[in-house]
Amino acid sequence: MADIIQLLPDSVANQIAAGEVIQRPASVVKELVENAIDAGATQIKVNIKDAGRTLIQIIDNGCGMSDTDARMAFERHATSKIRTANDIFAIHTMGFRGEALASIAAIAEVELRTREHDQDLGTFIHISGSNIITQEPVSCDAGTNFQIKNLFFNVPARRKFLKSNPAELKHIINEIQRIALANPDISISLHHNGSVIYELNGANKRVRIVSIFGKNINQNLIPIDTETSLVKLTGFIGQPKHARKTFGEQFFFVNKRYMKHPFFHKAIMQAFEKILPPDTIPSYFIYFDLNPADIDVNIHPTKTEIKFENESAIWQILQASVREALGKFNIVPSIDFDQAGSVDIPMPLHDFNKVTIPEIKVNPSYNPFETQAPQKSYSGSKTSFSPRTEQRSAPTNWQTLYKGLESDLTSAPEPQEDEPVQFKIEEQQTVKNSVQFKNKYILTPVKSGLMVIDQKRAHERILYERLMQVLENNEVASQQQLFPETFELNASDATLLTSILPDLRALGFDIRDFGKNSFIINGTPGVLNTSSPIEIIEGLLEEYKNSPVNLQEKARETVAVSLAQASAIPYGQTLKPGEINELIDNLFACQTPNFSPKGKKVLSIMPLEDFEKLLK
Ligand code: ADP
Ligand code: MG
Repeated sequence: MADIIQLLPDSVANQIAAGEVIQRPASVVKELVENAIDAGATQIKVNIKDAGRTLIQIIDNGCGMSDTDARMAFERHATSKIRTANDIFAIHTMGFRGEALASIAAIAEVELRTREHDQDLGTFIHISGSNIITQEPVSCDAGTNFQIKNLFFNVPARRKFLKSNPAELKHIINEIQRIALANPDISISLHHNGSVIYELNGANKRVRIVSIFGKNINQNLIPIDTETSLVKLTGFIGQPKHARKTFGEQFFFVNKRYMKHPFFHKAIMQAFEKILPPDTIPSYFIYFDLNPADIDVNIHPTKTEIKFENESAIWQILQASVREALGKFNIVPSIDFDQAGSVDIPMPLHDFNKVTIPEIKVNPSYNPFETQAPQKSYSGSKTSFSPRTEQRSAPTNWQTLYKGLESDLTSAPEPQEDEPVQFKIEEQQTVKNSVQFKNKYILTPVKSGLMVIDQKRAHERILYERLMQVLENNEVASQQQLFPETFELNASDATLLTSILPDLRALGFDIRDFGKNSFIINGTPGVLNTSSPIEIIEGLLEEYKNSPVNLQEKARETVAVSLAQASAIPYGQTLKPGEINELIDNLFACQTPNFSPKGKKVLSIMPLEDFEKLLK
């Protein structure tokens, strides 16, 4: 019988392996920037075109490569970083499988220009789909310059799998963020389609964090500095009041490498327990330095999870350090001496028999973070709305909820069976009996029982329908700001905002890109009637980032949903009776009052029978 087993040609093997290492443009950026750092670069420039689809260029001032090394670098398992198996346990460099360049060369066009510092001439190599097209001497700068063009040109399935440009760019920005935070001493720049996203000069950790996340974060950073025989911990945690509802400013680094560590994340969450506003996650930037032999070597270059030898001990150290830092900054609730009159100092007494023990009165219900969620009145809300029910016809079946209610609750005459029941009248009668509960729900009696309305979701629904109406009817009404406000965002939020600016304009926002991640707001949507547009834009971006809706196809709708969520009256806000009225009134004027724009229930009815059962 003829032999049937064949060795795969290298190019095919490389292409298969490439799938493991290179999933998207951001993976190329990560591998090449890490190589530059391993090569001792102090300056790295990253130029991207079309979110990496057409070009990824990385220029470094590292050691460069000789002509033989330049050629060798593209071979599978070619690495200058491991000589013996033992080296694996002492590895400090970033990647160490010698696979990245081979993988990239298999699925793209690669042009490499590299020169060692003591050489006059450098080397130029052009590879396409693992085939060497050219190798020749070239005069170029010392260091290395990689250009990766037409990524996945020969792997259509991969190319199809790529997300929209903003989404892919976001991945690239995230990788650069991680590397830049892990290596604050290295200067890194990132340009996309010719415009600057980052221009980061070598600095200390704090300056690096501030230059990435904006100057507002500065006063919120609390330093961490702990050294034990097992591990050295440095970095910062954010103040509880700076905590956000979404992830984005949580970073662990181990030996200058970004890692994910859900277990250590828990240690931090526990240290912050009870001092965070509800459902928020504190920022943290924590650097672990320890003997590489004490961590399980992460053989897979794309993996970010790392296993520690002494995990539970480090867990304890981490938690203690965070607690201590919070304590030092008086963040952890302790006896509150600031409250006037809380300390009773005994008066000097003539009658020593009457001496009493000094007493410290502590208000047990005092919560230092209460100011986070002040019980604002509805009118002090970020947005308010004027009743516009007249523009809408009431939905058909709502009145049945209230039918006959009046007779249940008051002695007014019952409407005739065949008499059309006026929605508006019914509702107002009901509203009189509506109350707010826990500053979160509105309870309103209906004929069949008790209706519970979620105040925030109800307002989201109302705002959403108004915004959609603006979009559908093209009836943009912008309310001009008396004093245009400027604001600055971090780079990734700035790119996101830029990408949705046209949709925001269609909704009535007049926002202009000022360059360098700053913007100016000249006008806001008339339907929102907002007093704090910047807060709303920030909330909108948070919501938008977490939206599962397909961003490409339904971008506008997603913007409207996010905007409604960001502008809705929050939980914890006290509503005046008139405001409760208005809310119910407007909710029932919606086309889909039962569900929030994200599909969550706005209301539910607890049937009368259930009350009877309760009291049996
Ligand atoms: P690894 O990083 O695991 O060694 P790579 O495929 O990423 O594998 O790189 C292969 C080799 O190419 C590296 O070991 C290094 O010697 C060389 N190399 C890659 N990038 C650079 C660079 N920017 N400067 C100098 N040498 C580089
Ligand atoms: Mg590498």
